[in-house]
Parts: sequence; C-alpha cells; structure tokens
Amino acid sequence: MPILRFQALQDVQNRPIQTIKEEGLRSLSYNMNVFGEQVMRQHLPVSAFENVIEAIHKGKKIDRITADAVATGMKTWALNKGATHYTHWFQPLTGATAEKHDAFFEITTDGHVIEKFDGAQLVQQEPDASSFPNGGIRNTFEARGYTAWDPTSPAFIYDTTLCIPTVFVAYTGEALDYKTPLLKALQEIDTAATDVARYFDKNVSKVHATLGWEQEFFLIDSSLAAARPDIALTGRTLLGHASAKGQQLDDHYFGSIPTRVLTYLKHLEQECLLLGIPIKTRHNEVAPNQFEIAPIFEEVNLAVDHNSLLMDVMEKVAERHYFKVLFHEKPFAGVNGSGKHNNWSLATDTGINLLSPGTTPMKNLQFLTFFINTIKAVHSYEALLRASIASAGNDHRLGANEAPPGILSVFIGSQLTQVLDELEKVTDGKLSPQEKTDLKLNVVGKIPEILLDNTDRNRTSPFAFTGNKFEFRAVGATANCAHPMTVLNAIVANQLKLFKQEVDILINESSMKKDDAIFNVLREYIKESRYIRFEGDGYGEAWEKEAKKRGLSHHRNTIDALAEKISPRAIALFESSDIMNAVEIQARYEIEIEEYIKRIQIESRVLGDIARNHIIPTALRYQNVLIVNVKGLKDIYGDDYKVLAKEQTLIIKEISGHIDALNAFITEMTEARKKANQMKLVLKSKAYCSKVLPYLDKIRRHCDKLELIVEDELWPLPKYRELLFIN
Ligand code: ADP
Ligand code: MG
Repeated sequence: MPILRFQALQDVQNRPIQTIKEEGLRSLSYNMNVFGEQVMRQHLPVSAFENVIEAIHKGKKIDRITADAVATGMKTWALNKGATHYTHWFQPLTGATAEKHDAFFEITTDGHVIEKFDGAQLVQQEPDASSFPNGGIRNTFEARGYTAWDPTSPAFIYDTTLCIPTVFVAYTGEALDYKTPLLKALQEIDTAATDVARYFDKNVSKVHATLGWEQEFFLIDSSLAAARPDIALTGRTLLGHASAKGQQLDDHYFGSIPTRVLTYLKHLEQECLLLGIPIKTRHNEVAPNQFEIAPIFEEVNLAVDHNSLLMDVMEKVAERHYFKVLFHEKPFAGVNGSGKHNNWSLATDTGINLLSPGTTPMKNLQFLTFFINTIKAVHSYEALLRASIASAGNDHRLGANEAPPGILSVFIGSQLTQVLDELEKVTDGKLSPQEKTDLKLNVVGKIPEILLDNTDRNRTSPFAFTGNKFEFRAVGATANCAHPMTVLNAIVANQLKLFKQEVDILINESSMKKDDAIFNVLREYIKESRYIRFEGDGYGEAWEKEAKKRGLSHHRNTIDALAEKISPRAIALFESSDIMNAVEIQARYEIEIEEYIKRIQIESRVLGDIARNHIIPTALRYQNVLIVNVKGLKDIYGDDYKVLAKEQTLIIKEISGHIDALNAFITEMTEARKKANQMKLVLKSKAYCSKVLPYLDKIRRHCDKLELIVEDELWPLPKYRELLFIN
C-alpha cells in the first residue's frame, strides 16, 4: 500500500480551485440570520418587544406571556428562513460549544402534524448533562442540569438550525458553563463602573465592557492533517524535524494571502456576516501557514459568543475547502504559536469610551480614573489573571520568546508613565487652587496630544495599554474568552468599588472636594501599583529576576498557576461579588486540573504509539535496506567492504541507538503514567507535569533525529516543510 503521506501530497496537488462569489454590499448580509432587535420589532407584538428590550438592557425578568410571544415570533421567522430544528446553544466547561437539535415537527394527540415551539421550549431545556464536566458538583445519577435562555445574546440560524444562546446550570443552582459567571461579572462591572462614571457625568446609567478578540490559527490541508495521528488526536504535532526554512525570513507576516486561503477566508467572512459576527480584519501571521482574523469589538457577552461561534464555523467552512484549522497554542515546534489577544475597554450608554482620553481636563481625569484603577486591579490580582489563561497548550507558548512569560505586567508607554509620575507628586490632602490649575493645564490637560505619539507599543507585554483600550495578550488561541473576561471584569469591578468607597470617605469625612479626593486616591494607587508596571523587554531573563524582586508571581506551568484560583483571596473576591461560590470555584479548578491531566495523558499515549507503530518500524525498514546493501558490498568486495560501507555501518548503528533510546523512554513514560494514575487529583496532575511531560521532548528528539536519517521515500508522516509550506 502506498504511504499515506504521498497520497496526501497527491491530494493537495489535485485540489479543485474554488471561487467565491461576492455579491452586493457586505453590509446588506450582516445579521441576516440573527433574531436581532430589528427583526424582533417586526415579529413581536409591541408589549413583548418592549419587555425583551427591557430584559436585554436592564436585566428585567421575562414573564411567561412574553416568552410565548417571542417563541412564536422566532418560530415564524426561523421557519420562513428554512430552519427545521432548534437548539439551546451553550458553552459547557469542555471549551467547545454544545447543542442538541430538536425538530419543530410534532404530532398532536389527535394525530395532526404541526410545527411547534413555545415559550417553555425557548426558556428552558434539559440536556442529559451527565457527560459534561462538573467537577463533582453532581453525581451521575443526579445528572440534572438545565439550559436557560440568555436574551442578551440574540438567537441565530446556522445551517437549518435555530440556535438559542443559553446558560447551563445544575438543578442545585451551580453554574456548569462559562457564561453564567461571565454574565454576573459583567453585571458587577456595570454597577461599579456606572457609580464611578457618575462622578463625572450624571447622565451615565449603564456601562458595558467591550471586547475585540484577535483569533490566530494555522490552516493546513486536510489530507496532510489526516496523515498525522498527532494532529488528528491532539491538535498539534508531537514530533517533526524543523523545516530548513521556517519563519527566519519574516516573509509570511502581512504578506500576500495565498489564494486558496483567501478563498476560504472570504467564504468564512460571508458565513460570519450572516451570523452577525462583524469580521473586519484578515492577515498572514508570523509563522508560515498562520493567519489571523479580528472583528469590530462588541459588548463582551456577545463578543464571547461570537468567538465561540466563529471557531465552530471556521472548522465547518474549512471542511468545504479541504483545510483543517489548528487552534492549538503551539501546533509546531520552532515557529510561533497562536494566541487570542483580548482587547478590552469600558463604554457608557452615553457613548463614551472610559479608557479613551477626552478633550477636557475633566474627561481626562475620568480617563485616568479608569486607567489607574485597571492597573491597580491587575496589580492586586496578577496571579489570578495569570491563572485565567493557564492551559496545557498555552504552557508551550508563554515565555517561549514569542509570547509574554507567565508573569503579568502592564505596559503603558513612556508618556503615560510620565503623567503618572507627575500625579504621584500631588499634595497629600486638599490641593491648592494653583496646584489644581497647574495639574489641569500641564498634566491632565495634555493627555490627548500625548497619546497620539504614544506609538511605542511593546509587543512583549502581556497586558498593554494601546491608546484607548487594554490588550490582554497572554490569552491562548483555543481559550474561551469568557474565562479571562470574567476574571478581568471581576477584578476591575472590585477595584472600582473600593475606589468609590475611598473617594466617598474623603468627600464625606474629610470634606474634600470631589476632584481633590479623586486625585488623592489615585496618587496612592499609583504608588501601590508601581511594581506591576513594566516597560522593558518582557521576554528577557533580566525581567524574570526583576519581577521576582518585585514580588510578582511567576508560574511556569498550568498546575502551579491554577492553584491561585482556589486561594482564599480569589474565593473571597468571587463570593463577595456573587459571581461564583466556593463550590463552583473548587469544581472549576478540578475540571481544569483534570483537563490538563487528560491532555498530557493523550499526548503521551499518542506519541508512544506513533513512536512504536510508525517511527521504529520505519527506522527498521531503512536499517534493513542498509544491511542488505552492506551484505552485498561484502559479497562483492570481501574485506574491502569495511571501507566502502563505512557510512552505512555508522547509520545502522545510529539507528539502533535511537531505537534503543526510544524503547527505553517509551517504557519509562508508560511507567510514569501508571504511577501517576494511582495518585489523587492534584498530585497526579503534578506528576503528569513533572514526570510524564518531560518524556514527550525526550522521545521527540530521537524521532526527529531518525527523520533526518531515514530515506524520505519511507517516512510515513507529512514533514514540517509539507505541513507549513503547502497550501
Ligand atoms: P493590533 O495592532 O493589536 O492587531 P487592531 O487595530 O487590529 O490592533 O485592533 C485589535 C482589536 O482591538 C480589534 O479586534 C478591535 O475591534 C479591538 N478594539 C478596538 N477598540 C476597542 C475597544 N474600545 N474595546 C475593545 N476592543 C477594541
Ligand atoms: Mg493585537
């Protein structure tokens, strides 16, 4: 049988050239398959429409009559658009989205066939929840969870299914998904930020957090991917010698997008627009066959749903183009991995971006207030924020000279640093009129023009201010943004609440003027959070040392980082703000630890299998070829063969050496797994991290050496040069 690798390479050559028709203005297809406000207005009775809008914007509960009316409107709309099924669409803690389709089709008791969908079906469903991760919250025999409609994220039709975004909770009340705590954190930031924003503008009645993610990914041909069991089962290559050409020439980044990829992206963008995902940007990334797409930012909840939906749609559209999308944080050694920058800001219902400097000193004081409070929040909870982006995949990326290390720090640029330095000198207590005028004219008043030149964006910072938003860059490409966003919004909300309390005390008890009080509190915050600010090279070893001196945490692996999630401080933060209780926090912690173990376990098994079933047999086959050759030389030349077969003999020995080492390491790795498997959860995870994981590198090294030695024709797995450069 021909080797799969060559069949795959043949497949790639024979791919049909596809074209995508782009008809009409893109804005015309935007939101076409979304049950958004405009569509609701057309399909709902006025009172139902008004109730839903109240629910979306003010969190009002939806009554039964409204739910029935919405369901009827939704059904009519969906059936008209060709939908046959509906599903509650949710985001369990697996990291993927979940859906169970039910047909509208129903047979009534008197035998009539109808299309049915009512308020009860819209509001709640009971998927059999026993197989979703729950961290021991439910026993399987008590596997009762339910999904509940989240009206803040609009329903949409994908293919022929009406998808209704929902939260997923246990009957006992605990959240079993990413979305429930996120919605609570967003409620918190709304309340806290609105209270503070009202110091500056009494017209503000709501603040929403905004998120603009940037999704990085690799695209490789589906036949090549299918010929690699490691990619198929783990999403990354566990072995493979570096290609002679990688990203050294920097010739891929922002280069012209390959035609086949561009066709795929156009198709994807069309699907996205119909679903209301406002994709705006597409470009080549640093590594070969690596790309990025980014949308226009949206309110966080919607942006999170859109990112989850996007990842799903990306895979589906990719199938039609014979591509496989790799979201893994490090699919290939030696070239950059993939992240998902989370750009974050706060916007008021009066249309103001609170992290954008304004045109007056007062607006700038508002900007500084939110800016400094965010920095302070990150300083107070740096380890928790680090934990929010921890995963087995991201461990390969963080600190590997392509992404920031596992140390959180904030970059703000030299000009804003100067502003904060000035503010740090503000008088303790009431400010003199002269000082205030001075501040307003020379410090606070100067900010807008300063920011225009603030272009020295530091790419090595995990959390950088970029003019009118913060960019959280340490998030991994596979992550569900909900989790880092829950933590970030929770810590900033908490910080803003503290700020408000302190300012109010100064106003009420020390009879300070409002802006004196604000200046005084901000001054202290600047001092207290000084250590989280870092403008230098985040990749260097010097920073590791410096960060240690500053007392910042540095967790190199997921297991160490995750411990912070169950720290008393973290539990207090989430419990006091009612975002998660201790049971939910503990459950999530255990789910993540388990997931880590499973990932490493799968990788370890897959690599063991590939090494034993693919690599060693291939090496033996080639060794046999050499042995036949050496024997032949001996037959013909007698003793002279030693000179003639020198190279071959060396390679024969070298191959035996690698096979020996592989056998030993695979056996040791299996033993290490067996031992780890006997342990209790946390110890087990540590054993997987420190005792099993290192074998992946050791085994890989020998496989990769063999790849260099063995005849190309015999090598069964597509090579890096084929995976990375063919499309
Ligand atoms: P980069 O240079 O980092 O690639 P871009 O200009 O491409 O930056 O923008 C990155 C992202 O920032 C986009 O997804 C965009 O929607 C998002 N963004 C812009 N303004 C905001 C904001 N106020 N809040 C949240 N995200 C924002
Ligand atoms: Mg960016």
